[in-house]
Amino acid sequence: MRARLILYAYMVQSRAFIKTKKEAPKDEVSVNAQLLLRGGYIDKLTSGAYSFLPLGFIVLKKIEAIIREEMNAIGGQELLMPALHPKELWEETGRWESMDDLYKVKDRQGREFALGATHEEVITDIVRKRTISYKDLPLHLYQMQTKFRDELRSKSGLLRGREFTMKDLYSFHASEEDRKKYYEVAKKAYVRVFARCGLSTIITEASGGSFSKDVSHEFQAPTESGEDLVIFCGKCDWARNVEIADKKAGEPCPSCGNILSEVKSIEVGNIFTLGTRFSSLMNALFTDKDGSVKPIIMGCYGMGLGRILGTVVEVNHDDRGIVWPRELAPFDVHIVPLVSKDVKMTKRVFAEAAKMYRVLRGTMTVLYDDRETASAGEKFADADLIGAFQRIVISEKTLKERKVELKKRSEQKAKMVTAKQAITALAAQYRKRKS
Ligand code: ATP
Ligand code: MG
Repeated sequence: MRARLILYAYMVQSRAFIKTKKEAPKDEVSVNAQLLLRGGYIDKLTSGAYSFLPLGFIVLKKIEAIIREEMNAIGGQELLMPALHPKELWEETGRWESMDDLYKVKDRQGREFALGATHEEVITDIVRKRTISYKDLPLHLYQMQTKFRDELRSKSGLLRGREFTMKDLYSFHASEEDRKKYYEVAKKAYVRVFARCGLSTIITEASGGSFSKDVSHEFQAPTESGEDLVIFCGKCDWARNVEIADKKAGEPCPSCGNILSEVKSIEVGNIFTLGTRFSSLMNALFTDKDGSVKPIIMGCYGMGLGRILGTVVEVNHDDRGIVWPRELAPFDVHIVPLVSKDVKMTKRVFAEAAKMYRVLRGTMTVLYDDRETASAGEKFADADLIGAFQRIVISEKTLKERKVELKKRSEQKAKMVTAKQAITALAAQYRKRKS
């Protein structure tokens, strides 16, 4: 399955807003921010707030499309809630006071608001205003929306924004049994989303943090740059975040006895049992089969889009730039013609490249490096930094052999093939993936 994206299907590089940089700003310490800034994917406005430039926006929209497909597949209905929340709503659950990272703002008349850090209060308010019977349940509502959190440490680029996009799904059930069943369904959908983004995850079990004492699960993507440390068993699925675990690496697994290992990782998703915590406090009720009126049983399920994007870069890069997985690459193919000393030859090379561009853009997304002022070195450096899934180089040398060079970003060596072979091979790949 391939998430469809019409946006920016093809681009001519001389006109594209891709201003690559040789060096990352000194104050950026994380690899994801360094490479995304250098590659022209993002711009930093201030600590924890980034713009997605055209290239970054393409990748963000691809992640969004994958999440939307997987959430709709598990019965999710998409909606959109405001970021501006009245103080009174947050006071109902006590979180106006208890949530440290809540941004609070005042209007001209002195009324206070929170900038939404999460949306349990708002979604519960929407549901309680409506008459809900057991026949309306289960109900699964989600959004992809901007969250604001007054994060103390935001030095890790897209991994920890003060303003960031989250997919948050809230589920409503008539019974605990039904909620539990859906929780497992959501868990599988989460694993699918991350797998399609090229991330394998360890699922750690934890207590519910600020939400409840009930169980929650984190989806942890192992990588050296992760802020979290996960203790896990390589043999069974026992895994815990070290923050809460009473086990250490080297000790036997409490479930199967195998020796436990540890790995640094990034939390890309988190799902929670809410039970009736919010519905009781806020009076969100439903009428059950026997006519009795009860608080609705809830769960919530979050993942950060920017954090996923940043994690993908942390996991998939080399010293030259980003190595996007196929489904997230901003372009399927980057066509790179090289200037030669002979003007006539340069004309032929670029004519050949332009022809290829016109043919390929019908079936796949293409970036065409039409710049005649850039050297081969500059073009290769840009191509590796940007990280389109594969690259076609056309030069005097390849033309003399009536061939082109075809190479995936993840591969070291290029193949010499005829233009026709390249077109056929690529068209087959993308036709296959679309079906
Ligand atoms: P952390 O422990 O990393 O601060 P959290 O546990 O507070 O995160 P949740 O409330 O569980 O975060 O949010 C759900 C998901 O939203 C997280 O799993 C993560 O993918 C994403 N997320 C949370 N905070 C941020 C942030 N500051 N920037 C980007 N994404 C975030
Ligand atoms: Mg979390």
